[in-house]
Amino acid sequence: MEAMLVDAFGREVTDLRISVTKRCNFGCIYCHDEGLGPILRPRAPHDEEMTVDEIERIVRTAREFGIRTIKYTGGEPLVRTDVEEIVARTVRQIPDVSMTTNGSMLARRAEALRNAGLKRVNVSMDAIDPTAFREIRKGDLHPVLEGVREALRVGLVPVKLNMVVFKHTLEHIPAMLDFVGNSDGHLKLQLIQFMPELVDPKDWSVDIDAVKKWLEGKAEKVLVREMHHRRIYLYNGTEVEVVDPVYNEEFCFNCHRIRVTHKGELKGCLNRNDDLIPTRGLDDDGLRKAFRTVVAQRVPYYGVHVKEFPRRDGDAAQPVFPLSAG
Ligand code: SAM
Ligand code: SF4
Repeated sequence: MEAMLVDAFGREVTDLRISVTKRCNFGCIYCHDEGLGPILRPRAPHDEEMTVDEIERIVRTAREFGIRTIKYTGGEPLVRTDVEEIVARTVRQIPDVSMTTNGSMLARRAEALRNAGLKRVNVSMDAIDPTAFREIRKGDLHPVLEGVREALRVGLVPVKLNMVVFKHTLEHIPAMLDFVGNSDGHLKLQLIQFMPELVDPKDWSVDIDAVKKWLEGKAEKVLVREMHHRRIYLYNGTEVEVVDPVYNEEFCFNCHRIRVTHKGELKGCLNRNDDLIPTRGLDDDGLRKAFRTVVAQRVPYYGVHVKEFPRRDGDAAQPVFPLSAG
């Protein structure tokens, strides 16, 4: 067993997010593809993707360093036909394995993924309105809803619905809260602040602090999660988590996650690509050294890597239409 990975800011690394592909069958208008630039179409050549053996070796090394949770992502992970095998081999090393998916191909694979050992799933759903969903994600809502239903049926609970908060989705938040609120606690909502840095700069951002204030007005209780100090709002049995990294030092100073790109490069921060460490061809000792190096180079993005940024003041946030205070 290796010593736990801790960076120079005292941040322990407990969580690994692995991209298994850059390909995707959707075309979301805001997609950051894990900060690595435009996605590739699903049938494009994929020689550069890690093999199952390569992924397994990275997970084995992560376990040596005491990393406790693995999340698979993409592109769209389910364009790969071997995700079940990837999960099965992962849980032998680290049991807490989850996945973020667009859900469009989940219905026919949820049971096999559960049988392989997958614990939970995040399904991206920016609106419960099919027209808005199509405009944003360039794909159909119907199979995604089927995927969510099937995930619930086979016990991949709770299913977290990821909703990116930006100009196009603000008006759809109340309906999404109702949808999640009518699920007997089996669905949770995760509101993700739109991250403009990673895509073409566009004027789509909304004041996430205003959204948080609105949620606080409705909530019976507000919890703080260890990871990123994310806020969780509870009301009527509904759990809403807000992921708001932009201009947020508190988020960065409480980040315990590193990443692996589809090519097997280690990446210390979603927002940076100047710290990628290739691992292909390294022997086991070389791979361990690469883990140590990427963590040694890790700095909080806001606060250290980016020092000049607009300060956020949650108390001063004004209500944003159509979310009024209270
Ligand atoms: N294809 C899968 C999906 O859509 O869930 C997994 C990969 S996707 C890059 C992971 C999550 O990042 C999704 O929930 C997506 O909505 C979110 N996301 C993508 N681009 C974003 C952006 N610019 N700002 C905030 N969240 C974004
Ligand atoms: Fe990007 Fe996921 Fe949308 Fe595909 S489904 S375009 S990977 S956010």
